[in-house]
Amino acid sequence: MKSLTELVRPNIQRLTPYSCARDEFRGRKASVFLDANENPYNAPLNRYPDPLQEQLKQELAQAKGVPAEYMFLGNGSDEAIDLVYRVFCEPGKDNVVAIAPTYGMYEVCANINDVEYRSVMLDKNFQLDASRLLSATDEHTKVIWLCSPNNPTGNCLQRSEVERVLREFPGIVVIDEAYSDFSHERPFRADLPLYPNLIVLNTMSKAWASAAIRLGMAFASPDIIGLMNKVKYPYNVNLLTQQKASDMLRQKGKLHEWLTTILNERTHLMPAVAELPLALQVYPTDANFFLVRVADADRLYHYLVERGIVVRNRNRVALCQGCLRITVGTPQENCELLAALRQYKA
Ligand code: PMP
Repeated sequence: MKSLTELVRPNIQRLTPYSCARDEFRGRKASVFLDANENPYNAPLNRYPDPLQEQLKQELAQAKGVPAEYMFLGNGSDEAIDLVYRVFCEPGKDNVVAIAPTYGMYEVCANINDVEYRSVMLDKNFQLDASRLLSATDEHTKVIWLCSPNNPTGNCLQRSEVERVLREFPGIVVIDEAYSDFSHERPFRADLPLYPNLIVLNTMSKAWASAAIRLGMAFASPDIIGLMNKVKYPYNVNLLTQQKASDMLRQKGKLHEWLTTILNERTHLMPAVAELPLALQVYPTDANFFLVRVADADRLYHYLVERGIVVRNRNRVALCQGCLRITVGTPQENCELLAALRQYKA
């Protein structure tokens, strides 16, 4: 791996980050807070939240098995995705390489940050070929984007190929594990000590059933986390979100209950869809959604919308022509979907 100093943007390396009032008094005991121009009334929301969310990180450390100093928290993992560009990629000069198809925000954030985005197509089984991916890199490639289980394909990328990328690419490798709670594969966040160039993304938006609170995580070496903290907004995760996330983490039983129900539903829903005459192919998945290929995806999509059922039309995504992406819902929602699909006349 190149040194972090070689990888980070020079202006970020030189940056003196904003020092907020809550950073300066850190670690000292006080009872009278006259340092941040807050209104003294309406506690606790009158106070700025902890800029580094230390208590929540301790709780997440327990839940995720990742030490707090290896953790960045943001306004959804989308914030972490954008920060990776702002920390490492020089606009108009550097590039990133990503698998395709994959989650759309890696490309959108590249475009926002004026960074060249190079896509390398997965194979027809939606698998990664490390050699092809690595051959798309050059001396200006700062980041490789991987997503496993991948969105929209649903499958985990083959571990040996991912490990080859981690070993052989000298820059940053991001593995987005937004859906790893639905998979039986060992998550890559467990391998952080082995790979100093690895950033793993997680989110409360999927298995933890908290998309509305906007809490995303990046796990990486303390040096990488330090760079992300340097660039983030001072109070990027609000107090209500920090508190709500804590509440959720205390309901671990709920998480297991939801996971069991969703995975059980997935086991029944997928073969039931596959049996329908409209289904040309149902793809295997490790996530809480799956792809189904049909003869006319646009027509089926609109048919379902007319019945009040919204799925994701992936017909115009490379390698996903003819595909709808279906999220596994509650038993009742899945029944409604199946009933509507059974009435569809191709
Ligand atoms: N990564 C992947 C792979 C996703 O599919 C999504 C959302 N669909 C995100 C990240 C964004 O997650 P968040 O809600 O944490 O911003």
